[in-house]
Amino acid sequence: MSSIRVAVRIRPLPDMPSPSKSNIQKHGCVSTLLDDETFLQVSSGGSETTGSDADEQKYDYVFPPASSQSNLYENTAKRVVLASRDYSRDGTIFFYGQTGAGKSYSCFGDILKAGNAATDENGVVVRGIRELFEEEGVQRSVSFYEIFKERVYDLLATTKASKNVGAKIPSLNVRTHPTKGSWIEGAAEINVDSADACIDAVRKGFKQRAIGSTAMNEQSSRSHGVVRLKNVRKTKGKTPIVTYLTFVDLAGSERQTDAKTTGERLKEASSINKSLSTLGSVIFALGKPGNDREHVPFRDSKLTLLLRNSLDPATCETCVVVNVSPCPKQYFETTSTLKFARRVK
Ligand code: ADP
Repeated sequence: MSSIRVAVRIRPLPDMPSPSKSNIQKHGCVSTLLDDETFLQVSSGGSETTGSDADEQKYDYVFPPASSQSNLYENTAKRVVLASRDYSRDGTIFFYGQTGAGKSYSCFGDILKAGNAATDENGVVVRGIRELFEEEGVQRSVSFYEIFKERVYDLLATTKASKNVGAKIPSLNVRTHPTKGSWIEGAAEINVDSADACIDAVRKGFKQRAIGSTAMNEQSSRSHGVVRLKNVRKTKGKTPIVTYLTFVDLAGSERQTDAKTTGERLKEASSINKSLSTLGSVIFALGKPGNDREHVPFRDSKLTLLLRNSLDPATCETCVVVNVSPCPKQYFETTSTLKFARRVK
C-alpha cells in the first residue's frame, strides 16, 4: 500500500544571504541539511541554528529555497502522474500554505507568460500534462473549478455570464455516485487531444480565475483552484477505465481573522478554515491502516466530496506539497503550516 506523501518547499526571499558551506543550511527560521533531503528544522531564534525551541522534523522531501521547479516536479508530482498514466490509479496533488508562500508558483509556474514553451519555470501542472500525454490513445478531458465559500464555479464555462467580469456566475453542485465517483454537475469537460490543447485550456481557466479575483478583491488567494483531468481508457470488449488526475492550489492557510473581523469576511474566513481542516481530517482518517470509509468526513466540504474517490492511499497516489516562507517574521504561520503537514503525514 502506498501512502500519502508530504513534501515541504521553502520559498526564496529577496535579500537572503546564501547558506554556508556547512552541512546545516540556515534559511531564516528554517534549516535544511545538505546530505539529507528529508530533514527540516524550525527555530524562532535569531542567528542561532539550534535555539532551545528548535524543532526537528522529517518529510518525504524538503526543497530548500534554491531548488528548481524541475526538482520539485521530479520528486513530488511525477509519481502521481505516472500512477495515473501507467497504473490507472487516481492521482491527486495539493499545494498548501499561507498566501505568498509559493503555492501558485509551484503549481502553475509561468503558465501565463510561457505560451506552450518548455521553460525552467514551468509549474507542476504543465510538466504533469506533458508527461501524461506521452501516452497516446487515451481519451482525455480537462475541467477547472474554483471553490470559494463552499460554492463551486466553473472556470471553463462557455456561457456568456461567466465571461462577464463581475457578473453573477451560477455556482454548481457536486454529485456523487457509488461507482462513478463524484463530479460537478453541468461543468465543462473540455476534450483535449494534445498536451498543448490541455495547457491552453488550463491557461484560460487560470486567466478567468485572476479576472474574477480582481473583480472580487483577491478572491483567488481565498479560494481553491482545482484542475482535473479525466482519462478514459478503452479496451475492446471491456468497460472503459476512467481515472482522474487532480491538481489543487488550495486557499491561503493564514489565520484569516482578528478580533475586528466581522460580517461577510468572518463567514468567508470560517469557511476557509473549515474546508482546510476538513481536508486535514479526511487525509488523516484515510491514512490510518484499515480506515473505515464510512467515518471519513468527506461530506464536510465540497472539495473533499469532489475528491472522495481520489484520495484513498489504498487505491490512489496522493501528494501534499506544503509551501512555507523562511522569513523569521512568518515564524508563526510557518509553524502552523507545518502542523498541518505533520497531521497528514
Ligand atoms: P501563493 O500562491 O502561495 O499565494 P505565489 O506562488 O503567488 O504564492 O508566490 C508569491 C510570489 O513569490 C510570486 O511572485 C512568485 O512568483 C514568487 N515565488 C514563490 N515561490 C518562488 C520560487 N520558488 N522561486 C521564485 N519565485 C517564487
